[in-house]
Amino acid sequence: MADLPLQPGSMIGILGGGQLGRMLALAAGRLGFDVAVLEREADSPAGRVCAHTIVAPYDDAQALAALAAIADVVTYEFENVPAAAVASLVGMGVDVAPGPLALAVAQDRFEEKTFLNANGAPTVAFAAADSPEAAVDAVTRIGAPALMKTRRDGYDGKGQRWVEHAADAARVFADLGSVPVIVEAPADFVRELSVIAARGRDGATAVYPLAENHHEHGILRRSLAPARAAPALTEQAERIAARILAGLDYVGVIGIELFELSDGRLLVNEIAPRVHNTGHWTQDGCEVDQFEQHIRAVAGWPLGPTRAIAQVEMLNLLGDEAETWSKLAAEPETRLHLYGKRAAKPGRKMGHVNKVRPL
Ligand code: AMP
Repeated sequence: MADLPLQPGSMIGILGGGQLGRMLALAAGRLGFDVAVLEREADSPAGRVCAHTIVAPYDDAQALAALAAIADVVTYEFENVPAAAVASLVGMGVDVAPGPLALAVAQDRFEEKTFLNANGAPTVAFAAADSPEAAVDAVTRIGAPALMKTRRDGYDGKGQRWVEHAADAARVFADLGSVPVIVEAPADFVRELSVIAARGRDGATAVYPLAENHHEHGILRRSLAPARAAPALTEQAERIAARILAGLDYVGVIGIELFELSDGRLLVNEIAPRVHNTGHWTQDGCEVDQFEQHIRAVAGWPLGPTRAIAQVEMLNLLGDEAETWSKLAAEPETRLHLYGKRAAKPGRKMGHVNKVRPL
């Protein structure tokens, strides 16, 4: 196990080489750490800014052993790394943060909502199904219309369909691939919000101001932060975050997606055991951003302050939108963050901007 707090010059391992890994690596570098990334693809956004890149599938035993040999702690940038890979690192004595429980809970929507409710974090009503008959039964119990989602591997709105009538449930179950699903009641929300929070090795917690999020075709388009929010709403979000962090015995930054209902209640939609797209505003809007905060937490350093110092509109640059970089770079209130991805496919997250105003 690692000797904590990690000294500058230590090696932090990251599973996953996308933009989140890249921004984590840049933050780690600023604090004096070296980074080794394990990623399937060569020439990845994170790999190009790291001291070491191991190019291999996440469950490659040799690659995991190579990472274990050089990394003092290991973290990950996305929640769909195979649980077996993390288990194998833990088996080799590697300190992995966030731990296997957070990963297991976040990888399965049914486990996730069951955990949330058991820990006092409210969600919509839900039911699991793993056959066409059970899917019809689940929609009948929850009531149509309902949202059917695959339990695993969904992201950016993929792997989910509305079911208008219980009689359609078997067909939608088949359309989703006849895999285990969860059926959710519709959340009648007025806004989608998120809260980014962190927990250190010593159990200390830090919560950022709420962000208000707008999606298009299931992909995050823009976040406004700090969101306009009465103190009672902020307190509710902080209470929910504290329960989730404690329930998972969490170490690191977590993203918690919320629905705000018309009666002012918050429901949790889902949690991401990692830095989160709706927390990118903290790079230019907070004293210590989510990336540095995550590195501090996993390294056993004290958490930093989460106070907002600016009002931010974060806009994702999707596909060829990143080609407008020279125009964006000329705007004095715009902070440009590009991920160094080689190919701009439609809808692919190529970068983001934080448009900054005084608070
Ligand atoms: P998810 O993949 O669970 O994050 O869902 C993607 C988007 O679908 C959310 O950001 C919401 O806009 C919408 N959504 C998800 N679950 C529900 C629900 N139970 N009721 C209404 N809308 C939902």
